Amino acid sequence: MAIIVQKFGGTSVADAEKIRRATERVIDAVKKGYHVVVVASARGKQTDQLVADALELNPDPPKREMDQLLSTGEQQSVSLFAMALDAAGYAAISLTGGQIRMLTDSAHTKARIISVDADRIHKQLEKGKIVIIAGFQGINEEEDITTLGRGGSDTTAVALAAVLGAEQCEIYTDVDGVYTTDPRIYPNAAKMQQISYDEMLELASLGAGVMHSRAIEFGKKYDVKIHVRSSSEETEGTIITHEVPQMEGVVVSGATIQKDLAKLSLVGVGNKPGNAARVFAQMANAKVVVNDIMQTEVSPDKANLSFTISASDLKAAREAVEKIGKDIECDSVFIRDDIAEVSVVGVGMRNHYGVAEAMFTALAKAQVNIDSITTSEIRISCIVDEDQAEKALKAVCDAFELDRPARHRAK
Ligand code: ASP
Ligand code: MG
Repeated sequence: MAIIVQKFGGTSVADAEKIRRATERVIDAVKKGYHVVVVASARGKQTDQLVADALELNPDPPKREMDQLLSTGEQQSVSLFAMALDAAGYAAISLTGGQIRMLTDSAHTKARIISVDADRIHKQLEKGKIVIIAGFQGINEEEDITTLGRGGSDTTAVALAAVLGAEQCEIYTDVDGVYTTDPRIYPNAAKMQQISYDEMLELASLGAGVMHSRAIEFGKKYDVKIHVRSSSEETEGTIITHEVPQMEGVVVSGATIQKDLAKLSLVGVGNKPGNAARVFAQMANAKVVVNDIMQTEVSPDKANLSFTISASDLKAAREAVEKIGKDIECDSVFIRDDIAEVSVVGVGMRNHYGVAEAMFTALAKAQVNIDSITTSEIRISCIVDEDQAEKALKAVCDAFELDRPARHRAK
């Protein structure tokens, strides 16, 4: 019998009525003949509440204890879910991460999955049970509870789908799919029928908070078909899958906006071996995650080096740069924290020309100045003034017709 994994996010299990509605999805799949494995998140804002409870007692709680605490949210929802299925006349069993030996490394609060023992799950499925697994949690070699980072239940679900050889991993959520852009800023955003793992990864890392990026990495590595869909409506959502030829016909699949950024520009750095290494060694030391890096030689003995970071790291980054300014013969440092990044993403960019021109023309027409530009094979990003960012996003969405499904676009 084919296996299907169904993941329910916090909003989909927030109260008794929602859990009951979620069980209907499960029962539908059972009636279709599937073995069903459910992964559930903590109910509603439960995880936030637990974090707040911890911080009230300790501003810097030991991470091991944090995991011990946070994992209880999921333990509640899976047992309740199993009880609801039992009440509906379906045999179910809930299991924690430890009970299925979801082995992770020991990086508490952001652990990575190493292996899962699928035996216990298979045995229960063969007995005809619906198996409900607590998302977001695992255990390390010492049998201590770990968690996978906020939003990590998605990763639990996709990892289980991979290990169990599931036909599909359904992610039930409060949106009915993945949109071309954030509908709160661009109300006409269109729902995508399908999107490739690579595009979804770019969108997720650019701040489109639909899914945990590790989940998509897993999906890509093990070719798990992921279906993001609504827990309250029966419509088809968005399929995240490997690239198919048809996707290349779509030049731009989605656009994003990323706020809370800062940019440091080191002007007139000595143009000699080792200076870039020194700068980023300092950043690593200060635990600053660097997004985009741009460097250009401006004369035989000087180069300009700019990079973006999240605004919350600015203080640490500025101090790190000050420490080495002299060593790298830097003339001056120019810092901006009033910026945002607008990006377009699409695998079709690999074989279409004119995408950059279309984006820059759209921004020019909207009178938006571009501070800097970075690209990858399937992405073009422009840093703009933060107060112009929404206008910029709208202009770009209009230019690439992101208000309609891909098959209805002129180009
Ligand atoms: N409950 C966890 C969180 O709120 C994990 C998840 O929802 O995926 O981050
Ligand atoms: Mg989530």
